[in-house]
Amino acid sequence: MTEYDTNAEHSISPLNSELAIKYILSFEHVGQHLIDVSMSFSALAQQELWIPVWVPGSYLIREFARHVSTLSATVLDLQSQQSARHIYVEKISKNRWRLNCEAGETIVVHYQVYAFDLSVRGAYLDHTRAYANPACVCLAVAGREQHPIQLIINSGQSFAQHPIACSLTKMSAIQHTENNRIYHYRAKNYDDLIDHPFEIAEQSVNSFDVNGIPHTIAISGRHRTDMTRLANDLKKICRYEIEFFGSAPFKNYLFMVMATGSSYGGLEHQNCTSLITPREDLPSGNEAEQPSAAYRRFLGLCSHEYFHAWMIKFVRPQEFAVLDLEREVYTRMLWVFEGFTSYYDDLILYRSGVIDRPSYLELLAEQITRYLQNAGREHQSVSDSSFDAWIKYYRPDENSQNATTSYYNKGALIGLCLDLTLRERGSSLDAVMRQLYQFAQQGQSLTASTIPDLCEQLIGDRLNDFWLNYVEGTLELPLETLLDKVGVKYTVEHKVWPLGLKTSESPNGLVIQQVLRDSVGADAGLSAHDTLIAIDGIRATTGLLAQWADAAGFNVRACTGAGTLLTCHVFRRDELMTFQIQPVASAIHTIRLSVAHPERLTDWLEPFSSIH
Ligand SMILES: [Zn+2]
Repeated sequence: MTEYDTNAEHSISPLNSELAIKYILSFEHVGQHLIDVSMSFSALAQQELWIPVWVPGSYLIREFARHVSTLSATVLDLQSQQSARHIYVEKISKNRWRLNCEAGETIVVHYQVYAFDLSVRGAYLDHTRAYANPACVCLAVAGREQHPIQLIINSGQSFAQHPIACSLTKMSAIQHTENNRIYHYRAKNYDDLIDHPFEIAEQSVNSFDVNGIPHTIAISGRHRTDMTRLANDLKKICRYEIEFFGSAPFKNYLFMVMATGSSYGGLEHQNCTSLITPREDLPSGNEAEQPSAAYRRFLGLCSHEYFHAWMIKFVRPQEFAVLDLEREVYTRMLWVFEGFTSYYDDLILYRSGVIDRPSYLELLAEQITRYLQNAGREHQSVSDSSFDAWIKYYRPDENSQNATTSYYNKGALIGLCLDLTLRERGSSLDAVMRQLYQFAQQGQSLTASTIPDLCEQLIGDRLNDFWLNYVEGTLELPLETLLDKVGVKYTVEHKVWPLGLKTSESPNGLVIQQVLRDSVGADAGLSAHDTLIAIDGIRATTGLLAQWADAAGFNVRACTGAGTLLTCHVFRRDELMTFQIQPVASAIHTIRLSVAHPERLTDWLEPFSSIH
């Protein structure tokens, strides 16, 4: 094969018709966090280039164009392989450029991208690591988005000794000299290109096969992971998920992980996931047989993103069949794609044998507790929450808990309720998921009626009230009743927020993080961001406020007399304000789950063998 240019880092070679668009990424400005990009292609007249404003899987307008600079373009003389002339580049919108060129000219564009975003959806470059989602580095050639693409990554001297993690199709062996390595990849089209992040860094790597499909884990950052333990656990999870669906929509899979102090996140791709995790979540050589809560969290993250390879990368909502990456794309179905995925991520840890039943019930209880502690569940449905992800879920503020619902959290519990409802009637959510995968294999995407239709097929009932009450509406989920039927006891414990306030200590006083909707604190006029400095003339501390955890409010009330209003001194900005408050605590619920009636347990809580 001669599809690549052996001197790619120095020149742009003639294009062949098969690989019409070529990108060369290099890292000569590591210290300044600048990725140098050269791209070449055969142009249309007045060719436009654009860069996405968001990245699939993360529903917020990110404006990647703001990191693009020094863009210039020349026409290439194909005979001499030299620049024939510079062409004028006009910026025509926030994320689009127009080139003053003729049709058929071969254009070379150079630009730089500032890359210092550690998140899984961005790009990052320093002397330890080069990482990028091509969506924020590679400009698209308008009208040529379906053309095949060649991606050349030149490690340069900085990364000549480091391996690369990338799940794109390789075109050839790596070219390796003392000073650099050059990696050649191909993508089917622009969408394919931007679904494959890469990382060059010092990595710990382990590989395993699942049902003949090669899987790789590559971990960068400082960490002391027991890679064998991790691979063994991941293998069980992956095998379960592949067998759950019946087959995999990928031929290989890569877990690309960065270990840090405290960052956390994951982004799904068609045959890869990019994860960032606190290093303490990774298993050490001392990890007990039952994973710690921290390690369980990491395994849950892996299980979640891997499940997305089916649910959202392959089975898609109808609105995502063709993605417009220049503006918001709305769907009301994120409660399915993120919610059901969140239901299964923990459940699969249990079913695959990685965690035991009490651990799973603990995770489920935490999910239910989060739901019950969110006052916003009474005010926003998951259907609306999905639609408004762009402006609400991805832009949380001090009022979010009071006004919004998480389509992850409530979506997961809707998954649980639907699963238990279907199981009562001889079917299961597992059957629905497998059917959705089969529909996608036949080229169908998901519409609002797909799941009700499937329920009708499976149990002879479209469950119209279920969708109306719990998906379109905000009726409380029947968790206790449904769990009781399968032998799981639901115990409510009360936790109190004194005065309905969530606070944190600071040298200046207690900073109010959140005021619970309809609490006495809210009624009195206290606000998030206020600094509470004194309660009834005594310096406000967590301890003093905690005395209100006892609804009697014993100490302070003894001084002030029962029923007396408390005086709170508060700084709002730099102004001192006084508020009178009824000394009443607000209760929020904490849930514990346990198996109370083992004889009622159904195959819902049966491990691996339950796939049917
Ligand atoms: Zn997700």
